[in-house]
Amino acid sequence: MDKLIIAIDGQASTGKSTQAKKIADYLGFNYRDSGAYYRAITLYLLNSNVKHNLKISQEILNQISIKQDYNEGHFRIFLNDNDVTNKIRGHKVSLSVSNYAKKPEIRKFVFDQLRNSAESNSLVVDGRDIGTVVFPDADYKFFLIAEPRIRAERRHKQIDDDSVKVDIIEEEIKIRDKTDSTREIAPLRKADDAFKIDVSDLTINEVFNKILQKIKSD
Ligand code: C5P
Repeated sequence: MDKLIIAIDGQASTGKSTQAKKIADYLGFNYRDSGAYYRAITLYLLNSNVKHNLKISQEILNQISIKQDYNEGHFRIFLNDNDVTNKIRGHKVSLSVSNYAKKPEIRKFVFDQLRNSAESNSLVVDGRDIGTVVFPDADYKFFLIAEPRIRAERRHKQIDDDSVKVDIIEEEIKIRDKTDSTREIAPLRKADDAFKIDVSDLTINEVFNKILQKIKSD
């Protein structure tokens, strides 16, 4: 069988990675979380005190090695052989990642990682620019959106920490959407041939079924 690519793009906190993993499990494909690459790079650069308003040199990028591993529902990411799966979801990284993700040298780094992964595997990849820039010829493309308030409430439940207010999460989500969709390089936008799903009023299984139906009907 030829290698297939399924791209799941969309706004922050719309459940892209949940869906991508379910599809990968269902079809027996590999899974790549493109946002996790940006997060791991951001973690490295924050820890190394490399500011996002400076050009990131090739020398620094050469110090970064990232591996993703996905197996039956379990996703892990390693930065220079350290497991940073939880660390990359922290508040500090979430606040800075969109600023680092704007930079062409960082986008190229992630682009290369994803393209290399696709050489040997059928892949489900989630992100912002997978169907537009990284894999414009992907076999299936989906674009998930939802109301900011609903996304903030879902994220709030996941964080499970009452000291973090829903309003603050909503504000951060809106800022991230804005930064992602107005940047010059690879902005967040729906590919013309992507299938859009508003997940605001849908359960995880309802979204999954819509995606499967679409894949089966094409
Ligand atoms: O998907 P996640 O929220 O973990 O992504 C973190 C950030 O990485 C996004 O807000 C966005 O700034 C950036 N990103 C991107 N392009 C992608 C995936 C993520 O710019 N394909």
